[in-house]
Order: sequence, then C-alpha cells, then structure tokens
Amino acid sequence: MLKLPVCPHCGAVYSYKEVNSMKNGTSICYHCKKKFRVNKTRGRMILISIVCIFLIIVNTAIMVSSENFIPVIIMLADMIVITVTFLMFPLTVKFIPEKFTKAEKRERKK
Ligand SMILES: [Zn+2]
Repeated sequence: MLKLPVCPHCGAVYSYKEVNSMKNGTSICYHCKKKFRVNKTRGRMILISIVCIFLIIVNTAIMVSSENFIPVIIMLADMIVITVTFLMFPLTVKFIPEKFTKAEKRERKK
C-alpha cells in the first residue's frame, strides 16, 4: 500500500514531488501518453483512519498505565506521528488505468 504510484500502462515512475502536485482526476502519462485516473482520496482516508485508531489506542494506553505521564510529551509525539502521516500522503495515491473512449480508439488506429 505504501509506495509511490507508477503508470498503470507502462510502469513509468513518478517522483514524490510529482505525485504530491497531482490532483484527483484524469492525468496523462508523461511517458506513454495514456490516460489514468488519479485517486488521492481513498488511500488517504484509509491511512488517516489507521493513524487515528493507533493514536487513540496508544494515548489511552499511556494515560491508563502511567499515573504521572506528561501531556506535553504525548502531544509532541502525536504531532510527530501526524506530520509523518502527512508526509506519507503521496505514497497512498493510486493510479487507475482509464479506458479509452471509442472516439479515442478510432483516433489511435489511424
Ligand atoms: Zn505510462
């Protein structure tokens, strides 16, 4: 799940920066010129849900298990985890191959 997406048609590699600047919707491969759909939402939602559950469990465990915990340290740790999560966003982007429309297929046969 956590790796940079590649073109579903030719396997062209996209850099972290390129993926980060892409928007949801149709994109054209710089290498094979074929279309694919960029889906940033789904993987991101899954990642956020996992991290939220993880943070809730860890925070609760710390608060329950130690009587003299320091809230500031927990908050800092949470912030680091959240920052790392944000940095991982491009790794959750999915490229889905887009079928050509009939008109485009005809165009390609010429
Ligand atoms: Zn390609």
